[in-house]
Amino acid sequence: LEQSYVESTPRSRELAERARDVMPGGDTRSVTYVRPYPSYVESAHGAQLETVDGETLLDVLNNYTQSVLGHTPEPVVDDVCTRFRAGNGVAAPTEPAVELAELLVGRVPSVEQVRFCNSGTEATMNAIRAAMAWTQNERVCKITGGYHGTHDVVEVGVADEGREHTGIPRTAEQRVQTVSYNDTDQLKATFEAVGDDLACLILEPILGVGGMIPATDEFLHTARDLTAETDTPLIFDEMMSFRLAPGGAQQRRVIEPDLTAFGKLIGGGLPVGAVGGRADLMAQFHPETGSVDHSGTFNANPATMAGGVATLRELDADAIETLNQQGADLRTRLQEIGDDADQPITITGEGSLFQIHFTDGPVRDLASSAAGDPAAEQLFHELRREGVFIAPRGMGNLSTPMTDSDLDQIVTAFDRALESIAES
Ligand code: PMP
Repeated sequence: LEQSYVESTPRSRELAERARDVMPGGDTRSVTYVRPYPSYVESAHGAQLETVDGETLLDVLNNYTQSVLGHTPEPVVDDVCTRFRAGNGVAAPTEPAVELAELLVGRVPSVEQVRFCNSGTEATMNAIRAAMAWTQNERVCKITGGYHGTHDVVEVGVADEGREHTGIPRTAEQRVQTVSYNDTDQLKATFEAVGDDLACLILEPILGVGGMIPATDEFLHTARDLTAETDTPLIFDEMMSFRLAPGGAQQRRVIEPDLTAFGKLIGGGLPVGAVGGRADLMAQFHPETGSVDHSGTFNANPATMAGGVATLRELDADAIETLNQQGADLRTRLQEIGDDADQPITITGEGSLFQIHFTDGPVRDLASSAAGDPAAEQLFHELRREGVFIAPRGMGNLSTPMTDSDLDQIVTAFDRALESIAES
């Protein structure tokens, strides 16, 4: 398999060799690092990627859920370019930021006000800071395998195939209390022990990087009740789950967090993050009455804001419903193939998000997700050979330009890939 990959990707190999000289590991993003080297992309349109080696791949990764409208959607590209030409990068506010803030406040019932930043990492960092300012506490309760970016405290308890991350101060670890996803008893015990000392509870309504595992209603509602009782801000990280309903997973699951961290799709393909929520908590960022410093040269960058506005306009309730239905059908079909396969397979997910796990399940948290199973990486390579591009850990998601024949291609490719894995 590796030899046929190397033979069919000479231009990528050449670029990877140049890249290794000037960037450690040849890249600047952990998730794009694959052995022996990644395929370089020349262009991306709709649901398709064109590689520098002349291959066409169906993109079922969509920049880790960011490009929900597929690539280069015309209305978004038009608005971004128009705004960029009108003048970008001025140290003064512009109208697109007001529009995007109004759209988010209008769509998400728990969000009364928002602040923009440039990444999901910054969004969760700022949400946690606001919660610390509000509670005067420093302890953060998070989920084992919950991914919220790369600042110190949220790097604690992240899944990374057994590799320990360094560069994180020990004090960060001491500040974090981890709880297994969907473990309501453990969550209750944690709140009993340290509930009054917490700055926040931060969680994803669907555990993304940790395995695309939906939260149970019981877990979400217990989280809401315990945080309300102790006046601890509940922070939802909706970076991946915002696509599940016009108002995000919180609207779909009918639960209101105090703060929400946004990112990915709300920037229309440009770097973005946002934190939103209750006005009294958001007041921590008010330059006159609050005390949390929130600066950034590119915060609310006009082109990014215009891209976000155009994306949210396109991603209306109808588009989301279609995506969710396609996702549900796809998960059923993939599970049927998995049930007939030689390997144990469990498909998890919700709406247009899914993950393939090489285990019998049930998959309810990081420990039961079979994370790090080398079969997932093998699946990635086998699917790629069939022209289907997913995450090396088995995660995929849909985009609006995908057709029925694209979905059929995913199913057929999965069937063939499992056969190849069984034979190897
Ligand atoms: N939270 C979640 C749930 C994410 O999936 C990600 C990105 N994968 C982040 C936070 C971090 O966002 P960014 O990469 O923009 O910093």
